[in-house]
Amino acid sequence: MSTARGNGAMPGTVYLVGAGPGDPELLTLKAVRLLGSADVVLHDDLVPQAVLSHAERAIVINVGKRCGTKNISQQQIDAMMVDYARRGLSVVRLKCGDPLVFGRAGEEMDALTAAHIPFEVVPGITAAFAAAAALRRPLTDRRSASSISFSSGHHAPGSALEPASLTGATRVVYMPGRDLSGVAAQLRTEGLPAVLPCVIVSRAAQPDQQIVETTLGQLDRIGAVPAPSILLAGEALRNAQAEELLALSAEAPGAELRQADAAQ
Ligand code: SAH
Repeated sequence: MSTARGNGAMPGTVYLVGAGPGDPELLTLKAVRLLGSADVVLHDDLVPQAVLSHAERAIVINVGKRCGTKNISQQQIDAMMVDYARRGLSVVRLKCGDPLVFGRAGEEMDALTAAHIPFEVVPGITAAFAAAAALRRPLTDRRSASSISFSSGHHAPGSALEPASLTGATRVVYMPGRDLSGVAAQLRTEGLPAVLPCVIVSRAAQPDQQIVETTLGQLDRIGAVPAPSILLAGEALRNAQAEELLALSAEAPGAELRQADAAQ
């Protein structure tokens, strides 16, 4: 364990890291580096040993919940991340696939934010992509499939099963074009509401990355952003702070909220 950092003066960083679909060659270089320097690794069941072996100097703890047997609660996992980070340790929270896809990362980031623990997300290859690669079939095909929505067979108790094309789905639109009015009209035709949060990410994970926050009703007023860009739409993207700023700037026609958000 690190003693230089682990002196308790400053909280350590928690890294929510994607371990990919299981093939250790499908790990990112950043995941390998962070595993190698971590003091603590908290991982899910589906992460294979070959991936964990990159954690050469860390305490490695399985916090996975096997189907049906909940050995450890989400609250306990949240508390472990916070406790280790408060001791100044570098924590890797290792999740299979991509950490932001069906991985309870939303709850974990809320807990870290509430505890003022710095955190970073390191993407991984999600199961959908690995599955399509294994099948050697496309997820999109200009002849037959022009949209993807990711959904889950499992729901939090009390949450309703929504039709994928309606408000319960997060829509990810690749190549939305410079003029977003066509995409906006299409999503409205599908029944999605004007108040639906929309975010355009330009040059994601590049040094000149930009984020533009808006709503579906205002999407066609967004000015062009540098290519390549991607559009995400859905309730899950709601951001109270951005909404407040958008409301403040509502008097200015065509107002939009831009954040120069340089990737690290
Ligand atoms: N964050 C993960 C998903 C976590 S939910 C991701 O981005 O892939 C866990 C579910 O993901 C599993 O029940 C299974 O349906 C799917 N999954 C994860 N890894 C998989 C793999 N290697 N092959 C097939 N399905 C996988």
